Amino acid sequence: MRIVPLLALILGASVLGAALPGGGVVAAAVAPQTVAVPPITACSAINKRKIIITRTSIGIQGAVTTKNWRTSQWAAAVLDPMYRLSSSYRPTNLVRITWRGVISTKGGYWLKREAADALSAMFVEAKASNISLKILSAYRSYATQRAIFAKWVAKSGLQLARKYSAVPGHSEHQLGTTVDLGSLTGVSWSSPKFPTSQTALWLEANAYKFGFVRSYPAGSANVALSCYGAEAWHWRYVGKDLAYEIVCSAQVPRIFLWNRQNGGERVIGPACDSFTPPEGYVLPSPSPTPPASEVPTESPSASPTESPTASPTETPVTPP
Ligand SMILES: [Zn+2]
Repeated sequence: MRIVPLLALILGASVLGAALPGGGVVAAAVAPQTVAVPPITACSAINKRKIIITRTSIGIQGAVTTKNWRTSQWAAAVLDPMYRLSSSYRPTNLVRITWRGVISTKGGYWLKREAADALSAMFVEAKASNISLKILSAYRSYATQRAIFAKWVAKSGLQLARKYSAVPGHSEHQLGTTVDLGSLTGVSWSSPKFPTSQTALWLEANAYKFGFVRSYPAGSANVALSCYGAEAWHWRYVGKDLAYEIVCSAQVPRIFLWNRQNGGERVIGPACDSFTPPEGYVLPSPSPTPPASEVPTESPSASPTESPTASPTETPVTPP
């Protein structure tokens, strides 16, 4: 653990994270407080870890189960190539939703109720601005993610697969709160033009108002901090207050959530003037330093324990 004088970082408010000599990255923050934030492992170091594939399991060496994923804190759970969900984790309150964002028993996608309600409202608002959104992917079970990853490995090899697809257990889609969104009428999500399309720009400007944040922003600095390539289509529901705080912080969600889990949650960043706070939002006061026991510990190896089940039949034609 390392004590980080956050006040000192005000001067570097435009910097997303500060590199440590050991290769770790400490989340930069703007708040008049001193908080002990353990360094988050750098993506460059995580991505050098071996992927261990056995006949019945697949995992990243040294991966650990993320904190709080089983509780109401699912919104803040850090998921990256280091932190994972249990292979048996299935979110509660999953509801069906159509690709047009209508909650219906006829829907082909599943989302956690909170995320589905917010997404449905966002689709309506987008429509009013002449933006026709469509769902490309939503909740994905561990088994589905395993099939998607296996397909990428077969197609492109292990090294490319881990770049474009989450190893099962590490996907935010398993939370049931994350969607891949495209346009019903405009540029396809897979086009290089999608990030600058009307749809993507509308999402960048408005998704936070509905509680969604973009997990993997563009730019090499952001990619180095989020551990995945830029994905303009991948949006995670975290709730309105948290989404507002994340966009305000100008940090990538992975860094913000890490900071929050370790006592830096009351961070109001330098970009707040550009965003509208949710109705009734109250500026939080600084929170105390968390006890040392909350610092996550690493287990020596990945050990997905799910026993082999029937092969999933879904064809992974959706974005990673
Ligand atoms: Zn996605």
